[in-house]
Amino acid sequence: MASERTKPLTDVIALAGESSERGSCVDDLPKRIERYGKAKHRTGLNIQYLSNPVDLCIDEVGYLKRRLEACGNWLVFRNYYTVGETRLAKARFCMKHLLCPLCAIRRGAKSLAAYLDRFNEITAKNPRLVPYLLTLTVTNGEDLQERFDHLVNSWKSYQKRRRDYLDKGRGFNELCKVEGAVFSYEFTFSEKGWHPHLHAIILVDPDQLIDFDFKASGLKKSQSRLSQEWLSITGDSSIVDCRPIDTQDPAKSFAEVFKYALKFSDLPPKENYHAYAILKGKRLQGSFGLFWGVKVPDKLTDELLDDELPYIELFYKYTDAGYSVTHHHHHTGGERPQVRIIEPLDDRSDLALEKADKFRSTAWWLIEKRERESQ
Ligand SMILES: [Zn+2]
Repeated sequence: MASERTKPLTDVIALAGESSERGSCVDDLPKRIERYGKAKHRTGLNIQYLSNPVDLCIDEVGYLKRRLEACGNWLVFRNYYTVGETRLAKARFCMKHLLCPLCAIRRGAKSLAAYLDRFNEITAKNPRLVPYLLTLTVTNGEDLQERFDHLVNSWKSYQKRRRDYLDKGRGFNELCKVEGAVFSYEFTFSEKGWHPHLHAIILVDPDQLIDFDFKASGLKKSQSRLSQEWLSITGDSSIVDCRPIDTQDPAKSFAEVFKYALKFSDLPPKENYHAYAILKGKRLQGSFGLFWGVKVPDKLTDELLDDELPYIELFYKYTDAGYSVTHHHHHTGGERPQVRIIEPLDDRSDLALEKADKFRSTAWWLIEKRERESQ
């Protein structure tokens, strides 16, 4: 039987779970830890590949290996037990979201939270706008760079035609009905080659709805103007999808947009490094109209709660068996938090644990500090 840890991580579910966890209840922590353990396990495959690479197309092997190995080895959560919330307080991340599912989850969660906040602001002010999840694709191909450029350029042309209409009042197209959009590129890989596509949350003026909503209009997708316009731009793909999002649970549709750029579960390490070499440093997300200008924090840990609140700090360490708690600290709040180990979780004596703890956390934080200062 495949252990929980080796089952692939379903990225939309992972991110949808993550999205509610800016203020996660303590009950969600085991699930969260399990997700992170699976993510680390997948990174392990990429690390292994670096030890014995075949046709590796990158030249920073030693550096990457060190970064990936150090990512998320320790996670420190704060359990604010008086208010029943848990936050990820400290961790060291590699920030290589194209190679590391853990960083991809955290990055996705941060984007999702920031754009969901904007979405709630927009819809409070403009309750008549209807949100849709739009998907646009180009045909598969062997050359990732060429296919990616094709998708990016096609999408840019479509947006430029919208802008031209708004500026000059001519050349109306379906995209002109969109008052705001946030989008991201995604890449899947199969025996048919690379398949780049994009997902977007779009906000549409309901008076303008003609055939956007395939279900409501009863049109075949290929008959829609959206599809015909997209084909005229791409020359090779009429494939579009557009469906209303569940406004009771918008996070689910937002997770489609902010899930990983790469589908790690279907991506062998060799192709993963190939994609990394081509896509690193590229902008894989964007927005326009009412979604323009949202700031997504770089920091991948959670926002913490008030310092005055007492909390228990939980130290998780990653091993091949997954994450497990090594020790607790109890902070009672106030100006000088009282720190003590309240419950040693292994069979060593309190004193030994205290020494080990001091050594471990000091060494770890020194490395972390040096790392930060060198950046
Ligand atoms: Zn990472």
